[in-house]
Amino acid sequence: MEETRTKIICTIGPASSSVSMLVRMIDAGMRVARLNFSHGDHPSHARLIRTIQAASRKAGRPVAILQDLQGPKIRVGVLPAAGVILHKAERVVLTTAVIDYKTGGPIPVTYERLHHDVKIGQRILFDDGTIEGIVEKVRGKNISLKVKVPGTLTSHKGLNLPDSLVSQAAFTAKDRSDLLFGVGQEVDWVALSFVSCADDIIAARAVAKSAAKAAGVTAPLFFAKVERRTAIDNFAEILAAADGILLGRGDLGVEVRPEEVPVIQKDIVDACRRAGKPVIVATQMLNSMITNPRGTRAEISDVANAVFDHTDAVMLSAESATGRYPAVTVKAMSSVIREAEKSRYDDIHHVSLRVASTAEALAQHVHVLAASGLISGIAVVAGQGDIAHNINLFRPDVPIFMICPSANIARRHLVSSGVIPLLMNDAPGTLLSRLQTKIHHDRLLPRGTQLAVITSTGAEVRLSIVHV
Ligand code: PGA
Ligand code: MN
Repeated sequence: MEETRTKIICTIGPASSSVSMLVRMIDAGMRVARLNFSHGDHPSHARLIRTIQAASRKAGRPVAILQDLQGPKIRVGVLPAAGVILHKAERVVLTTAVIDYKTGGPIPVTYERLHHDVKIGQRILFDDGTIEGIVEKVRGKNISLKVKVPGTLTSHKGLNLPDSLVSQAAFTAKDRSDLLFGVGQEVDWVALSFVSCADDIIAARAVAKSAAKAAGVTAPLFFAKVERRTAIDNFAEILAAADGILLGRGDLGVEVRPEEVPVIQKDIVDACRRAGKPVIVATQMLNSMITNPRGTRAEISDVANAVFDHTDAVMLSAESATGRYPAVTVKAMSSVIREAEKSRYDDIHHVSLRVASTAEALAQHVHVLAASGLISGIAVVAGQGDIAHNINLFRPDVPIFMICPSANIARRHLVSSGVIPLLMNDAPGTLLSRLQTKIHHDRLLPRGTQLAVITSTGAEVRLSIVHV
């Protein structure tokens, strides 16, 4: 089956941690495996990475590994198995003291500075915003809330503080230790949770760089997860500092009004496309498929609309990590993407934006060649400056072969829309003739068609049209 342009990222968990299931998911279109470091320990993640690598070899396809760091997610502590019922208008007390919960007593939370960061009148939300309380009083380490939206609170559920300025840095001590582990495992990408500003990414990158240097490995690239209001406010500097953006609609939809999220999604995908950095739309895309073999009409529309927004990748969370139908869900996602990409609604017109650089103008030209049916593919060399970044600006409908010198570099490009990494390192001869040979040998394009190749050597950028 033909490769979709939009990439699929799957969170791996107990439902998808066998080689056989992973092979089915890769065959169905998974190109990136996400490991969620909110769960599991280092030995279990190391095993999972080896299993994914084994599945990748078995399926005969590269799979990128994305390490998603937990970040400063605030959670409630351990509560009785049945949970604690928070009744409407009831007063409950949270505490940052290290205590065990006793019936009727304060509820422990994991963030030791919470009592400094919340103010009277601010909201505290629990469990993806399904339970809501308003801060009435802060006494020492105890925070009194009045329950506004009732519900049953169970162990380890997340807290969101949409009204408070959280002083905790996005890159925690646990993240640091997890990142060092990830660098050692040579993960391809790292996602930083609850990023607020560029410094969060700069700090993490510095740690990864020096650890990678010491170990003699390639440092990972960084996705900044946009999932709180401050990340929207500081989006320009975050985009400049990160290598890509992951739109975490789960937390974001709690931290901002959920009705703001679709517009934010369009703005962010647009900004990333313009910057030539990959963007992932994530969370609840086919949520009902956690328990059902079919998605709802609304979910299917959501996946299609992410394609129409020109996202690089779409992501599955619990659907693939703990759901009943991981491979079926990937297959369904691929089908929706394929249908959406066949339509005209994912097309971008070549005059839709004013180009601002030579690289963008070249991308526009190549797009016109593709849209006119004059070329069947595009080839660029990874790392050759703006050209390689900008080539995807108009999301051309033909494959973009990214020529990469190593398997590591090739895997990084699996997150990008339309990009098919080509590993070309040691073959003799000139680039163009080597490319022609590889394209014939691997049957990458129909014979008798033309390929646009963009190369850049020092000061010269060259667009060549070659017959294949
Ligand atoms: P999470 O992040 O799945 O790690 O919480 C994504 C989101 O919040 O949507
Ligand atoms: Mn999140």
